[in-house]
Amino acid sequence: MKVLILGGTGEARALAEALTARGVPIISSLAGRVANPKLPVGEVRVGGFGGPAGLAEWLRENHIDAVVDATHPFAERIGASAFEAAATAQVRLLRLQRPGWSESPGDDWRWVDSLDEAAANLPGDRVFLTSGRQGLAAFAGNDQWFLARCVDPPEPPLPRRIEILLDRGPYTVDGETRLLREHRIDVLVTKDSGGSMTSAKLTAARNLRVPVVVVRRPPRPDVPTVSEPGQAVDWVLP
Ligand code: NAP
Repeated sequence: MKVLILGGTGEARALAEALTARGVPIISSLAGRVANPKLPVGEVRVGGFGGPAGLAEWLRENHIDAVVDATHPFAERIGASAFEAAATAQVRLLRLQRPGWSESPGDDWRWVDSLDEAAANLPGDRVFLTSGRQGLAAFAGNDQWFLARCVDPPEPPLPRRIEILLDRGPYTVDGETRLLREHRIDVLVTKDSGGSMTSAKLTAARNLRVPVVVVRRPPRPDVPTVSEPGQAVDWVLP
């Protein structure tokens, strides 16, 4: 039994730890986007596989028995690639995905289908963008002022009026509230990433009555899905 964990998330790191503790051989895979990533325990490989065909070949060469796709809810291409490659290589595939966020009383959320739609429908002039550095290009043609928070420095195209904040979660409600106040933010833009690491901004926005533009998750291939690392352990070791 040897498991490939497609990672880049906290859930993937938790699963790597849980399977390693049970003596299951694993390899975690990271895309290599972040300069100094948080690493999971155990063996790690970094970089793309070269599409579904490359991944299928890699699965065969490395004698992988099962794949857990624990990538971020918005990492669409690797999810599709895993689906196709697992079928080709005849390897079991599970999706580990944290639940999305849901509104609470007092929230003012505006759901959109894409960052482009968010850019075209901003209900404010001072925008806190938390959609990651790859998402900034969608706002490059906008005239609003942006505070953009990312893990690594972004590359052009970028909005004309922008301040970059390099940081990574977890964040606190107090910290997020201070940030929204200091920068006089009047709209927050986020993807529906889910999880508790980055959810404090939503509480801060609710408390300060700041509207939130939330990008819906993209559709994913029809794969058996669990939301907790422990459930993925049970799937690997029934
Ligand atoms: P993506 O658009 O789905 O993937 C683009 C390409 O990057 C894939 O086709 C694949 O290349 C490679 N790739 C992606 N994830 C990989 C992995 N775990 N291991 C090896 N190759 C991988 O992905 P993305 O949105 O750029 O995200 C990249 C990574 O960052 C993912 O691991 C994801 O979990 C993490 N992440 C993403 C977000 C987000 O908002 N998108 C947020 C936090 C973390 P090949 O086709 O060559 O195999």
